[in-house]
Amino acid sequence: MEMKLGPLGFYSYGKTKWEETCRDPISHIFVTYDSYVVNSIQFGYVENGALVLSKKHGSEGPEDSTRIVWLNHESEYITGISGDKYLSFLTFHTNERKHVAFKKEFNPPKLRPDQTIEIHSGIRDSCEFGGFFGSFDSDGLSSIGLCIRPVPSGVPTIKQENAHLRTILVARSPQSESLQIHLTTLPLPRLSVIEDCYYWKINDEDLRSYSAKKTWDAVRYREEEKPWTSNVWFKGSIPRYSFTMWLAHLDRLPTRSRMVSWGLNTSASCCLCDLETECRDHLFITCEVSSSLWNMILRRLGYPRGTLTSWTTLLQWLSRKDTVTSRTLKRLAAQATIYSIWGERNRRLHDGVTTSTETHFKFIDRHVRDVILGRRNGKNFSNLMLCWLRHE
Ligand SMILES: [Zn+2]
Repeated sequence: MEMKLGPLGFYSYGKTKWEETCRDPISHIFVTYDSYVVNSIQFGYVENGALVLSKKHGSEGPEDSTRIVWLNHESEYITGISGDKYLSFLTFHTNERKHVAFKKEFNPPKLRPDQTIEIHSGIRDSCEFGGFFGSFDSDGLSSIGLCIRPVPSGVPTIKQENAHLRTILVARSPQSESLQIHLTTLPLPRLSVIEDCYYWKINDEDLRSYSAKKTWDAVRYREEEKPWTSNVWFKGSIPRYSFTMWLAHLDRLPTRSRMVSWGLNTSASCCLCDLETECRDHLFITCEVSSSLWNMILRRLGYPRGTLTSWTTLLQWLSRKDTVTSRTLKRLAAQATIYSIWGERNRRLHDGVTTSTETHFKFIDRHVRDVILGRRNGKNFSNLMLCWLRHE
């Protein structure tokens, strides 16, 4: 199978198409040029120890300069070419080095140099090189490309996408050009009939497909799990309730006592009762408005004489496993309560609207039922409705 790479230049501009099949090792490349273009190209081969010249592709002018690129034909062979789309420069790359064949003398200084186009075949054996092709007209060489035969005869045909063809298109700076040149010197993977594939591996575990969760877990720094974590984030929790619970637990909600501590000129008294300082423990637990809501919730859960005295007692109660009711139900109801209290506080502060504790309790009741219904097939939710309605 023969493959054509490129060409560089404008193939259709050149009226005459040419093809040079290189059956023998190339020893010389003869290039004639003027200040602007390559006018002709010709190849020399070593055949039985003698130099044999190919046909000349292109036309030579009387004022032309000539350059001969010498290749060490015993070990050196063409692997790629580079230039730009106007062929204002042309370089041959071999397995050993690169040979500049032509560089346009006059480049308008204000014009950006044209982008370098590099064609690298990636071949690793001289027998894989098939020759050149291109076109020319009376103005000179219009295009030049490479022919390669990536598979030696007798080997099954490989799919095109497996051929290791590297075409590095743009060198934006001298540094990137030297990087590209360096990359071309690196050995390529072997041409292979096996299809390329990639896979993800995390901590020696082969993944069948990419997992954002596992990748994140592998790259992040992980703290020890906090003892309160499952009171905040539990299976089946409502994200916005968990989030408010989390902020409350870290005491990061902007309660009035915190706002005063930031230097804001505001009253520190509780938005619900207007009697005490609005800190987290007061607002969510000990304030008379909150504690009457908690009493209703606790009764409903089966704790008729239960009282909460601080955030710490709330957390202890949520963590405790007992025979009265499930921890999931406690956590669900408690988070809904915290969320309701914070919402009530904000509505009173910002909108001047007050909602009764009974209305909040009804809202929480309905919400808990909805959540249990929505998750009734979940492991921890299957018999929760019974628990929630038992003390109605
Ligand atoms: Zn209060």
